[in-house]
Amino acid sequence: MIRHRGMTRRQTLLGLAGIGAFGLPGRAQAADRLSVVTTTGMLGDVVTRVGGAAVDVQSLLGPGLDPHAFRATRSDIVAMARADMVVWHGLGLEAQLVPFMEDLAAKKPVIALGEAVPQDRLIPHDEYADAFDPHIWMDPGLWALAAAAAHDILAEARPEAAAEIAANAETYLQDATRVGAYAREVLSTVPEDARVLVTAHDAFGYFGRAFGFEVLGIQGISTESEAGLNRIRDLVDVLVDRRIGAVFVESSVSDRNMRALIEGAAARGHDVAVGGELFSDAMGPQGSYEGSWLGMIDHNVTTIAAALGGRVPDRGMDGRLSAGL
Ligand SMILES: [Zn+2]
Repeated sequence: MIRHRGMTRRQTLLGLAGIGAFGLPGRAQAADRLSVVTTTGMLGDVVTRVGGAAVDVQSLLGPGLDPHAFRATRSDIVAMARADMVVWHGLGLEAQLVPFMEDLAAKKPVIALGEAVPQDRLIPHDEYADAFDPHIWMDPGLWALAAAAAHDILAEARPEAAAEIAANAETYLQDATRVGAYAREVLSTVPEDARVLVTAHDAFGYFGRAFGFEVLGIQGISTESEAGLNRIRDLVDVLVDRRIGAVFVESSVSDRNMRALIEGAAARGHDVAVGGELFSDAMGPQGSYEGSWLGMIDHNVTTIAAALGGRVPDRGMDGRLSAGL
């Protein structure tokens, strides 16, 4: 079991207070785009869409990459050093980056956007006191709070673009409301006793809370903890006893443990299908609909509902999902 540095306390919204100290751009720079480096693709999505033409965004973590295990490469460090602003998630997600971000915050605005969510709406970490489950993008209601915070930060950094940034943020919030309503609708068609989500790690706690699903991860809230044999054996018991027919793999996590789970259930005469691949901690392919936060949530909701016996529209909320669900 690897203990994370910095996991035992909530990070502050580093740099929020610091924007003033670093000054607003002068007239000469007003036309310049604010260069922003984000860690996860989900953060990149919100900053890109809310900032619009006022920002130039680079995300360090592409499809399939795991933020829990993320260590900045040389080129990542160069990118962050050159950026006007760095946006990371915080809440212990990028556990290995904490000391680096603390140092960087002395030099430029460093925003832990995930920490814009009020503490009373966060799920406490099951192992560490004063730490929280970081996977807030799974609940559109919470992710809307991160988008609202992105609006405030970007509008302050680029006041000349404030009207456009406000309009962009409004559109993003509308999308969040719409996908939240879609999720409630299709997930409510899943038979009540099938509302159990078995995944590779505990990324779906907020999803489960928002939409009334029980969530069982093989690994804990971080992928950096080892899944014990006991955990796999216990979950096999749950699958067999409750006749759970489908489990889910994740695009950013190895499916090794999931295969062990399925084999364990099969050895006891219970067949479990892979219900599909979910986008837990990284979005889908760049440039695709699933490579956006909206598409990621649509994909997850539609895949989960379909695999667990619910009724879903063909190709999701807007008919934009890739075929082959
Ligand atoms: Zn995770």
